[in-house]
Amino acid sequence: MFDQLPAALQHEGRLSRRLFLSYAASLSAIPLLGQTAGTPKKVNFSADPFSMGVASGDPDHESVILWTRLGPKPLETGGGMPDQPVEVRWEIANDDSFKKVITSGKTTATSALGFSIHIEAKGLKPDHWYYYRFQSGDATSATGRTRTLPTPDANPEKLRFAVTSCQHWEQGLFTAYQQMKRDQPDLVFHLGDYIYEYAAGKGGNVRRHLGPEIETLEQYRLRYSQYRTDPDLQAMHAACPWFLTWDDHEVDNNYANDISEQRGVTPAQLLLRRANAYQAYYEMMPLRTTSLPKGPHMQLYRKGNFGRLAEFSVLDTRQYRTNQPNNDGRGPLNEEALNPRNTLLGREQRKWLFDSLESSTATWNILAQQVMMALVDRNTAGATAAYSMDQWPGYAAERQKLLEHIRDHKISNTVVLTGDIHSNWANELRVDDLKPDLPTIATEFVTTSLSSGGNGTSQAYDLSDRNPCNKFHNRERGYIICDVTAKTYTADYKVISDVKKPDGVTSSRAKFVVEAGKPIIHSA
Ligand code: FE
Ligand code: CA
Repeated sequence: MFDQLPAALQHEGRLSRRLFLSYAASLSAIPLLGQTAGTPKKVNFSADPFSMGVASGDPDHESVILWTRLGPKPLETGGGMPDQPVEVRWEIANDDSFKKVITSGKTTATSALGFSIHIEAKGLKPDHWYYYRFQSGDATSATGRTRTLPTPDANPEKLRFAVTSCQHWEQGLFTAYQQMKRDQPDLVFHLGDYIYEYAAGKGGNVRRHLGPEIETLEQYRLRYSQYRTDPDLQAMHAACPWFLTWDDHEVDNNYANDISEQRGVTPAQLLLRRANAYQAYYEMMPLRTTSLPKGPHMQLYRKGNFGRLAEFSVLDTRQYRTNQPNNDGRGPLNEEALNPRNTLLGREQRKWLFDSLESSTATWNILAQQVMMALVDRNTAGATAAYSMDQWPGYAAERQKLLEHIRDHKISNTVVLTGDIHSNWANELRVDDLKPDLPTIATEFVTTSLSSGGNGTSQAYDLSDRNPCNKFHNRERGYIICDVTAKTYTADYKVISDVKKPDGVTSSRAKFVVEAGKPIIHSA
């Protein structure tokens, strides 16, 4: 939709941010499926149009989003689809042979949303597993399995979910998802870097990106299509519902709101790219229509409840953040890092988060977010402190406000889930992590990358001397399985022996438990 920007937006040879934003605000959201679709056609496809599989996500106690996208040629621009609306049928059943169909319907896939389908299947039973599939022309999709959550006032006995992030296509295979599927989680949380925006690498990797660094809508679409052809990723999406949020690489490395990390890129240019990236993200993920993007804006922060056992706050720490202080380097917690104007959440999201934590009645309050919250000095030698300015240390005043809020309002059992950093960490969070005499307020479990960085090493730097908040650190690849009951929260760090060969074997590297009421990390 931004392919033909009005000439007024070209301001002295560069895009003006102000004009671009007023232009974006004048656009309505992308037309909803079916509303402007015209007469859908039944198409007979030359190849499987469901080549990118099926997915489900954002469940509540009576509904879930069912996703697919038509593309018989997923690695070609346009996906091999004719430029006409196409009819898609869907059904949801109690059994995988679809003898007992619970509900079904028809919808229209259009080029406006890259022939993606987002069905809100409603009126379902709480705390219940279902099967679903799609049909178009004479093709039938793979069968997906999904579930609803317990009612908000229910007291479920247990919940198991997986936490994953950072899946670089070129640097490793997604084999760890095979084990994750065998772990049979109720839910998956993906914390960002679902794709990487970079151009095809020079070689020496296990796979190659298609094409140059991605910037246009078609390029982002194609990159997601390539990733989603991975059979292990597809199978995991089909195994249970996911809650997804993004980090930087879904748009551009270390971007902050409308600020690119490259000098010379104007905010309007970055917003233009962001609009393309956000639309492709929406199209590819099982998200609710509340997340439908409007130009460069997209509502991704949201809440979920697994009865009274757990409340999830899924955060967006990229779209609203202020620029990284200290030129986005690693450095001490100086005046720039401590500037109270620095924000990762933005004012509205912060208010929403603080309010929803205060009103939560859940036993466990889980923040699913991107960047490490512990103030971890990552210098391995010498006296100079090295805090990452792209992570919460660069936004230390807002971090302190959040932990004070959790402390002052006695928010019960806050657990922070984090990705981004391509290594495993378990941290005890205080209002100021540099003061170990202060009480521990919350717990942070940081998952390593699924594949980014290639094979890591189990020989991690011991940073716990410098950082009393840190209880575990490891640099292998993998994911975390969390088991939650009213009494305990267990985090099992799963690592995989090799991401460069298809026969990587997954094992448990470390397992920690936190008891309800005491945010102290123990070995399990
Ligand atoms: Fe990453
Ligand atoms: Ca990242």
